[in-house]
Amino acid sequence: MTKVFLRKKIAHRIANGHPWIFGNEVEKIDGEVNAGDIVEVYYADKKFCGCGYINPKSQILVRLLTRKKETINEDFFYNRILSAWKYRQQIGYTENCRLIFGEADEMPALIIDKFNDYFVIQTLAYGMEVWKPAIVNALQKIFNPKGIYERNDVPVRELEGLPQQKGFLSTPFDTNIIINENGLQFHVDIENGQKTGYFLDQQDNRRAIQHIVKGADVLGAFTYTGTFEIHAAHYGAKSVLGIDISENAVSKANQNAQLNGLENIVHFEALNAFDVLKVWAKEGKQYDVVMLDPPAFTKSRATIQKAITGYKEINLRGMKLIKNGGFLVTSSCTNLVQPEMFLHTIELAAKDAGKNLKQVVFNAQAADHPIVWGMENTNYLKFLIVQVCDK
Ligand code: SAH
Repeated sequence: MTKVFLRKKIAHRIANGHPWIFGNEVEKIDGEVNAGDIVEVYYADKKFCGCGYINPKSQILVRLLTRKKETINEDFFYNRILSAWKYRQQIGYTENCRLIFGEADEMPALIIDKFNDYFVIQTLAYGMEVWKPAIVNALQKIFNPKGIYERNDVPVRELEGLPQQKGFLSTPFDTNIIINENGLQFHVDIENGQKTGYFLDQQDNRRAIQHIVKGADVLGAFTYTGTFEIHAAHYGAKSVLGIDISENAVSKANQNAQLNGLENIVHFEALNAFDVLKVWAKEGKQYDVVMLDPPAFTKSRATIQKAITGYKEINLRGMKLIKNGGFLVTSSCTNLVQPEMFLHTIELAAKDAGKNLKQVVFNAQAADHPIVWGMENTNYLKFLIVQVCDK
């Protein structure tokens, strides 16, 4: 097997458990280098570091799968998936969960979402793509699922020399499915929805709005298929308006309102949140609760400042629409915007809006997307509820 030797000066990251090894951290390679091959990695002092897959086309030359000297084969993937499932069950997930959250489950570049009997997979690196059949076999053995689908229509695959693609990995099935969450039902479009079709990362946070929305007039922006807004109606809001720029999302959101018999309370419209929030604030519209859950504003360090300006702007506009003593429910899924940075941005927005804030809840993503301590990029979602009062 090919052996990769690390330089003396490598980032502490690797020794501390992070699985990525960049090309410039490698001193020499003994043996052939073929994209996707399993290699053994050694520290500069020849001590064993771990086994992983290599891809000379990628900036991340090796991603480690294990720190043990063990054989990487079908059984390895079966065992990893089984133990990830056991962990999800241990922490209380039964029907829907992110079954594999990449690096956090020692399965770099692999995402698997479980929507009751259906599974959606993303293999985002060459070395993981190679094991796709083994992963599908493991899912078949463990779950005997009704369907498995790949949503590999993701640009990041091209950095690995992989094509973008989507399709069935099991016998074909109806990709419009219904899932249960917190006693509600939601249509999920596995084939054409955003990402894997549904944002499981907010599934626990959606419950956090339960008390603040009672009897409230609620505005939700970046609603996607209406999940937060339908929860608000279910938890006793007086009226709810959800907006999203995508006509498809809005049409699914309205279907979801009907599916739950809440169409008299919650409505959805296709609008650009950045534009209308500004106009509505000028017009003096007021809500008891405003909820914001925008998409990631950047994936690159070069544009973090722009992302922060975006967060400040949208939250400032949101706050201006809130009645004195009402609540702002605000999220950020931009990995590079750290929790403290996000809170600071909200603080600056409040200052500009002339508001005082009182923190009700500050959470990360749902626990089925584990945050591994020492692996910063596993802690990506910020979810904040604050009471907003006039100064
Ligand atoms: N809250 C949702 C997830 C939102 S994802 C949930 O829990 O399921 C972000 C959404 O923002 C996407 O649906 C995207 O279509 C929408 N979006 C992006 N830019 C927008 C804009 N300028 N105005 C309104 N919606 C926008």
